[in-house]
Amino acid sequence: MYTDTHVHSSFSGDSDTSPYEQINAAVSLGMEELCFTDHHDHDVISEIDFELDIPRYKEEMHRLRDEFSPKIELLTGIELGLQVKITDYLNELTSKVDFDYIIGSIHFVDGLDPYYPEFFEKNGSNAYHRYFDEVLECIKNIKCYDSLGHLDYIVRYGKAHGLSYSYKEYADCIDPILSIVIDDGKALECNTGGLSRGLCEPNPCFDILKRYKELGGELITLGSDAHSPETLGFAFEEIGERLKEIGFTHYAVYKNRIPHMKKL
Ligand SMILES: [Zn+2]
Ligand SMILES: [Zn+2]
Repeated sequence: MYTDTHVHSSFSGDSDTSPYEQINAAVSLGMEELCFTDHHDHDVISEIDFELDIPRYKEEMHRLRDEFSPKIELLTGIELGLQVKITDYLNELTSKVDFDYIIGSIHFVDGLDPYYPEFFEKNGSNAYHRYFDEVLECIKNIKCYDSLGHLDYIVRYGKAHGLSYSYKEYADCIDPILSIVIDDGKALECNTGGLSRGLCEPNPCFDILKRYKELGGELITLGSDAHSPETLGFAFEEIGERLKEIGFTHYAVYKNRIPHMKKL
């Protein structure tokens, strides 16, 4: 089974799963490596505490890495919530603390998470555009990440608000995002979290993954976004096949912030 590089545990405010449960699930699926990427969304107002206790997290991850070696190689990543207003904070954090892998994700736009209906109430039919514009602004300014997480994250929630979606409609926003990711040498994440919640496509959708390849993108990372063990590695085999059809031959697993290419 392909390595899952987007996994949450109870270190994330929105998961009750102990790291042991995720590790045991990964071992039983035959994964050779597993990368935890618990949430750290700094300076947001939310019912859920998305601020990660980084020293405790790192200590526990290192302890688990030793405990489970050589059965499975555990990697310590983080899912950083990107916001332009905290660019300096993020730069300082990532220059001081070592991680194997950093996912850059946009969860909050104008202080609102599209997970909640308020974002759609505020932005109406412009909601997707507003989201993609914010992604673009973030990655123009913030460079301290390795892979751009779940690029079209907002479509996980848009359908419930009557919004349709296709890459073509938003190509004017999405193409510049893909170009920056490629020019900066970053990876694009293929996230199967939406699939496990009933969507038909990963995030981003296949048309965006194709476009990324067309524009010269080579670095792809693979993550289930599992908050509990049942969805670890979700749909990886079929997604791997689709990625091969698109023309990707490898996916990247980051160690010490360096991509290691593994065969699809
Ligand atoms: Zn996320
Ligand atoms: Zn996540």
